[in-house]
Amino acid sequence: MAFTQEELQRYARHFAVERIGLSGQEKLKASSVLLIGAGGIGSPAAFYLAAAGMGHLGILDDDCVDLSNLQRQILYKTSDLGKSKADTALSHLTLQNPHIKISSHPIRLTPLNAHSIFKNYDLVIDGSDNYPTRYLTNDVCAELKIPLISASIFQFSGQIAVFNFKNNLSNTQACYRCLYPAPPPPELIPNCAMAGVLGVVPGILATMAVSEAFKIILNFPESKSQLILYDTLIPKLDTYLLETNPDCPICSHHQKFSELNRFDQTSFKTCDLNNLNSHNPIPITIEQLSQWLSKNKENKENKNFQLLDVRENWERDISYIKPSIHIPLNNFLEFLTAESSQLSALDKNQPLVIYCKSGGRSQRAGVSSIQAGFTQVYNLTGGMIAWENQN
Ligand SMILES: [Zn+2]
Repeated sequence: MAFTQEELQRYARHFAVERIGLSGQEKLKASSVLLIGAGGIGSPAAFYLAAAGMGHLGILDDDCVDLSNLQRQILYKTSDLGKSKADTALSHLTLQNPHIKISSHPIRLTPLNAHSIFKNYDLVIDGSDNYPTRYLTNDVCAELKIPLISASIFQFSGQIAVFNFKNNLSNTQACYRCLYPAPPPPELIPNCAMAGVLGVVPGILATMAVSEAFKIILNFPESKSQLILYDTLIPKLDTYLLETNPDCPICSHHQKFSELNRFDQTSFKTCDLNNLNSHNPIPITIEQLSQWLSKNKENKENKNFQLLDVRENWERDISYIKPSIHIPLNNFLEFLTAESSQLSALDKNQPLVIYCKSGGRSQRAGVSSIQAGFTQVYNLTGGMIAWENQN
């Protein structure tokens, strides 16, 4: 594989490393990596993969750039607010290295599109922030025998799991389901706004993930299917070789993709593909909500619906839609489970419109409300971000 003079100069420091050299750089140029999520993990990972001369880089993310992303998602500038992350990443990375191919996938990963996207790549790095995507990515990589590096972070620590489905160097097949047979219950899963993270932590974990990716692509014998835990506070690094879980439906029971439990994007409950979202709230647009609010204003004595904000206190302090009842998501879910009197302000038989920052938390609140007996539940599409863009 020929390199231009400019490429030879650009990758000179790789050529100087004996174990990489020209042949290693050729392997990088001939390889492709798909990044799931262009957020805290995806941003630095994308920069290092592009800079190193990865032949083909795919960026999959259906989200848009938000101001609260910029504290750690170094791919984006203040002028990128509101733009598609995948498309913005493509334009910034092309400036970083014009010699590589970059593909933008500004879509949500689903069981229907995952195979057709993944089959174009040699390796996948999963930096997504939700369990359904993690299990889906694992299941497709395992089926297509594509090495997978899964990275996740929480506050001051993080973990990298390396699953080399193509060439298992620890001689045992292991996958994400071996490590985590099922996602934790929804009430134990902090969402992105509640969990928080020190801005540099995803950067550390992302570069570790890219380092593992290079070791696989360059066929380094040091590459192993393993779990790496990193705590920035001590600081401490622990590694564990991964082993097959005898109960794993993929590694031990050889179940096919279509036979595996999928996890609902909203409630994380197991469900079959055809039954996804059967308890979903009805989407309501900003325009519809504005009209409903005007009607409520005209008819103060007999309101037509109730509006619920499930964001955190600090988010509500910045701005909110008036008038609305405020109960943060975790409290709301607790009150629903306990049938608490704290929900007495809400009428189960009156339409309930729920909103949060972008629509994810309100979706979860909506599903739980329906299960708790609320008869007409609506989720504000795009949440507070969309509301503020239009008002
Ligand atoms: Zn497994």
